[in-house]
Amino acid sequence: MEGPKVYLDYAATTPTDPAVIAAMQPYFFDVFGNPSSIHSFGQAAKKGIEDARQALASFLGAKPSEIIFTSGGSESNNMSLFGVVSANEKKGNHIIITAIEHHAVLEPAKFLQKQGVEVTCVKVSKEGLVDPSDIKKAITSKTILISVMHANNEIGTIQPIAEIGRIARKKGIYFHSDAVQTVGHIPVKVDELNVDLLSLSAHKFYGPKGVGALYVRKGTRIGTYLYGGDQEDGRRASTHNTSGIVGLGKAIELCQQQMDAEAKLQIQLRDALIKEIPEKVPEVVLNGHPTQRLPNNVNFSIRYIEGESLLLNLDMLGIAASTGSACTSTSLEPSHVLLAIGLPHELAHGSLRLTLGRWSKKSDIEQLLRYLPEIVGKLRAMSPLYHKK
Ligand SMILES: *Cc1c(COP(=O)(O)O)cnc(C)c1O
Repeated sequence: MEGPKVYLDYAATTPTDPAVIAAMQPYFFDVFGNPSSIHSFGQAAKKGIEDARQALASFLGAKPSEIIFTSGGSESNNMSLFGVVSANEKKGNHIIITAIEHHAVLEPAKFLQKQGVEVTCVKVSKEGLVDPSDIKKAITSKTILISVMHANNEIGTIQPIAEIGRIARKKGIYFHSDAVQTVGHIPVKVDELNVDLLSLSAHKFYGPKGVGALYVRKGTRIGTYLYGGDQEDGRRASTHNTSGIVGLGKAIELCQQQMDAEAKLQIQLRDALIKEIPEKVPEVVLNGHPTQRLPNNVNFSIRYIEGESLLLNLDMLGIAASTGSACTSTSLEPSHVLLAIGLPHELAHGSLRLTLGRWSKKSDIEQLLRYLPEIVGKLRAMSPLYHKK
């Protein structure tokens, strides 16, 4: 009964491209030196890191000195909030975020709030869009940082970052964007987006897990976040993850060459799913913006069913997807993103996220479309909500 395995969860993580693995391989044994060592072993490792820094800077339209390698998207987001707040206390103590940020922005903001920092959380539209004029209204004389994600990881909505950046720049306020879902997938140029800080993560664009970067525009005052070493010009202690950084560099080079063509293919598959799911499954609602959305993101709420049951049933057929529901987890609360776009709890619990990537093919979505109506029908037949309607 079970067909070939189908992976429709690229927004959670991507496989590491075999070409990336090959580029990393020498850095475990042959080129193992500590990149901070002045001997040739160290310098060979350092060259690998600096080449990766150059590749990433070139993708972003940044200077290599503006890149700090980190352990991933979460650390880059934490570093942005804690680093900017700690270095700009004299200027103010107010930061602005949005209701649909990743937890790696929301939780540091919540912590800072407990420490006395004022936090404004801006609402989004029902398509998940931030209105730049809402950001403008939230600004006070004490605002030191605005943080708005480039694209949302659940519903795929792409934000008007350039416009928000213009507002921030005019007021002399630092602007951070969590671009973990966009780097490697669509063009991300720091000067066009008017950002001062930008987070990214290698495992979201076919690189290895546990490595990422923070772009920090020259002149941005940001405090140290990890103490105990001079690495990254004293901005982040810890011996470099040489192989991981080299992998990130190779991954971004591949994306630079391939992402336009890949996005075109993914848009075709995405739009086929967006068209065909409502034709095959009654009473579904598309979440996110109809056009301003990531090339690889599909998110539907399916009435009268519970997302986790749906995922388990799909998984039994070899299909991997994701949901904003969390009925079996400890929280019971559905995704904050789905609630922020105004979905009632029932619809937020019935969400299905399908995300595409480099190895997605037509047969994957055919497989999904073949089984989804049947599973939804079965679950609805068991649902008290369905019978009450
Ligand atoms: C995955 C993700 C993160 C976290 O990145 P890690 O490298 O896994 O820590 C942060 N923000 C967004 C939008 C993400 O999708």
